[in-house]
Amino acid sequence: MNKRRIAVIPGDGIGPEIMAATLAILEAGGLKAEWVYLEAGQPAIDQGRSAMPEETLEAIRQIGIALKGPTATPVGRGHPSANVALRKALDLFVNVRPTRSLPGLKGYFMDTKIDLIIVRENTEDLYAGIEFQPHPDIAQAVKVITRPGCRRLCKYAFQLVREQGRKKITAVHKANIMKLTDGMFLDEYYAMAKNYPEIEASDIIVDNCCMQLVTHPEKFDVLVTENLYGDIVSDLCAGLVGGLGLAAGANIGENCAVFEAVHGSAPDIAGKGIANPTALLFSGLMMLRHLGEGSTADKIGKAVLRTFAEGKVLTGDMGGTATTQEYTDEVIRQMQ
Ligand code: NAD
Repeated sequence: MNKRRIAVIPGDGIGPEIMAATLAILEAGGLKAEWVYLEAGQPAIDQGRSAMPEETLEAIRQIGIALKGPTATPVGRGHPSANVALRKALDLFVNVRPTRSLPGLKGYFMDTKIDLIIVRENTEDLYAGIEFQPHPDIAQAVKVITRPGCRRLCKYAFQLVREQGRKKITAVHKANIMKLTDGMFLDEYYAMAKNYPEIEASDIIVDNCCMQLVTHPEKFDVLVTENLYGDIVSDLCAGLVGGLGLAAGANIGENCAVFEAVHGSAPDIAGKGIANPTALLFSGLMMLRHLGEGSTADKIGKAVLRTFAEGKVLTGDMGGTATTQEYTDEVIRQMQ
């Protein structure tokens, strides 16, 4: 098998630790890759560059595929988000975040079969980054929703339902209050639904959606939503199936795809060697499937599920006491 060229951004916080673990497992599973290491986040800033340097963006444009660790963004001050810059610069307009029950792990919904996918818009909304302060006592942010943006998001989401043989899709919004912006999203959603008559399309207001997700998560199939709601709802969904250490994601554009976990840089546990690499690993498995290496992804996925089922070597967030390295070694052992 020829080596695949894949960009790797370790990021900061727990990023380098979970990236090393993930690459070791992917290679042990049989992936032949030439990893092209790129900088973003704190390591780039430490060298006097921006959090998402232009050279990193250009390299991803050339390579077309990247696996990314988390990068911290200071709260209420400091540099702009490397993630927002990445998604906008490469026009990674959709963020796909699956949530599935994982047998073997303890959690509130152990006996409930959860299998849903969040399709989140990734470049617009309040994350467009337009904020200003017209008066010392007033701060404003602009929510940007465009018709072409809604159309391509909804098309991607309906297509995903069809390709995966799923049945239902639900648009998540707040169009009762934000009548123009979320109203436009909803109009485009139902216009797109007409092209997919076999799919049951409905919508739900975001606050009600959150309540229903924590009472009846099994009811949902595919959720499509704008950027901010998608960000919040996907952390909620991660909590349903064992936490952020398990939640994977993919940022997809026309020309590039960047795979990364839902979680952030977890500064509270960074450097301690105890982070759970599974979310990034599962993002890596999404990347393998995207690259047509589904059998390698299945092999690694089964080894992870066997590790969960045995329950002996798990990191702290999964109820165990293992270090990142011990857990990594165990997943690799389960493949052999
Ligand atoms: P976080 O996701 O980093 O952490 C939330 C909680 O989950 C923490 O208690 C953390 O220890 C735990 N956690 C997260 N990932 C884990 C893992 N793999 N294993 C075990 N436990 C894990 O969220 P936060 O603390 O709100 O954000 C920290 C920083 O990350 C912020 O600067 C934020 O901007 C950034 N962030 C980056 C991304 C990204 O790079 N895509 C996403 C979200 C947040």
